[in-house]
Amino acid sequence: MLRTDEILSTIEMLHAEHLDVRAVTLALNVEDCAAPSVDHVCRKLKNKILSRARRLVETCNRVGAKYGIPVVNKRLAISPASTILAGHGHAAAVQVARTLDAAAAECGVDFVGGFTALVHKGISSADAVVKRLSGRRVCRKCGATFHVESLPSRRGEACDRCGGELYQREDDRAETVRNRLRVYEEQTASLLDYYRARGILVRVDADRTVEEVLGAVDAAVASVAGGRQGRS
Ligand SMILES: [Zn+2]
Repeated sequence: MLRTDEILSTIEMLHAEHLDVRAVTLALNVEDCAAPSVDHVCRKLKNKILSRARRLVETCNRVGAKYGIPVVNKRLAISPASTILAGHGHAAAVQVARTLDAAAAECGVDFVGGFTALVHKGISSADAVVKRLSGRRVCRKCGATFHVESLPSRRGEACDRCGGELYQREDDRAETVRNRLRVYEEQTASLLDYYRARGILVRVDADRTVEEVLGAVDAAVASVAGGRQGRS
């Protein structure tokens, strides 16, 4: 049970410190929007979003007014994006992105997460990726991972830990890596262009330590979120 002085001090805090609720997110599972054609996927997505989220903004505003605490961002999060895109080729991603943006605009939500919050992890050159992945060696016996340059086994071709034979996985072969990169570039290029044009794509250089990349991702998300808030 709240005491009167606690309620009064909370009201005082709200007025003095201008508290707000940063974001309310309505999460939607869109797995059931998978369909044989992209047009069909988009129709199902739009129907689902409009039927579930049409009153999100109105409800947030009503709650905000009732408690005197404004809700700054009203968001939608959809998941899993990869399931509804599977098997539809690279043009599908942009069509789905357009559909999501149109549905979000119709509902008045600030943004759709799970799809638009796309952080493209850039790497300076394909050669760096090939070098990084193709140097990896795995122990057949214990599964330990080494790298011929950055983390070599002190026992050469044998595992440091158990003496087992080190081998290169099929996935890590230079030709396989180059081929995977080419497919990735083809499939994401059009989606990257779409989000770049909307000003919500930030390039993060991933040729650095894990801590540095994490810091850069944090900064990128903050800059995009700040920019969006500034515009709304
Ligand atoms: Zn081993």
